[in-house]
Amino acid sequence: MSDLSEHMPFKSPVMPKALPASAEIQFHCYPGISCFNACCKQADVTLGPYDIIRLKDALGMGSREFLAKHTVPFQMDADGTPGVKLKTTDEGVCLLLDEEKGCKVYADRPTVCRYYPVALLNIKQTGQPEPVQQYSLVQEDHCKGHEENRKLRIEDYRIEQGCQEYDEYNRDWYQLILKKKSSGPTVGKPPQTSLNLFFMASYDLDSFRRFVLSDKFQNTYDLPQSLYKELEQEDLALLQFAYRFLRQVLFGERSIPEREGAWEKRVAQRQEIWELRREAERARRLREEDEKYQGDL
Ligand code: SF4
Ligand code: SF4
Repeated sequence: MSDLSEHMPFKSPVMPKALPASAEIQFHCYPGISCFNACCKQADVTLGPYDIIRLKDALGMGSREFLAKHTVPFQMDADGTPGVKLKTTDEGVCLLLDEEKGCKVYADRPTVCRYYPVALLNIKQTGQPEPVQQYSLVQEDHCKGHEENRKLRIEDYRIEQGCQEYDEYNRDWYQLILKKKSSGPTVGKPPQTSLNLFFMASYDLDSFRRFVLSDKFQNTYDLPQSLYKELEQEDLALLQFAYRFLRQVLFGERSIPEREGAWEKRVAQRQEIWELRREAERARRLREEDEKYQGDL
């Protein structure tokens, strides 16, 4: 085993022991249990891209408004890869918690909340191209669900909690992060523009949609109009396209075909801009020199 990916999507203070899906756990959580809502009062919920789609739709917001009102940014690694967590009060209480009724977005709650107290681990085995999904059990004092007399396998708990759909739509994103992490110095620290693109494509789908539908993007990439139509209307299609785009941004994979000559055109346009800037700078300096001697001659 080469890597336990601790932030995807669950973050635990203890290094977990990896369990297979067939492992049995003893756990039951239900309204009326003595600790009801205790976990949501110490919330540390990292969000994946599909979590954000579900939450913004449930709250009737665009991605920008959702990010501003309900998330805080953090850095997922030493390269500054941006992550987002659900916002809490200063005491750690999730803003989406209703003290009496429980979670206000229960049907659309994020992956971490669905899995708890199970943690999802994406494990990269040495020599294996794809990460393997395994699990671990988190036992915290405040959670009394472990004392309930119900045993079930993790795979059945996943189905009960509706985790499969979330894993399916977030999977490529977990793999991107794991690939970046396991590539280490061979990929190196991405430039700030790539990190900004990572943030937009992963979390802010409304801005990513505007970016993809812009003339500049369409003049650069050679994609059918039918795909642009789909990306305009479908969040899930846009999300899959975002993962494709990020493989290009982070690893230089030619995952989206470019129009012939688009790269050369961009370089020429940049050179033109730099030339104009240099001209403007020369003119500014000459003006300053002129002003220094005005009245002396
Ligand atoms: S989103 Fe819902 S389940 Fe998750 S921490 Fe907040 S209130 Fe609890
Ligand atoms: S049993 Fe655990 S998961 Fe359920 S409400 Fe209590 S603390 Fe939260």
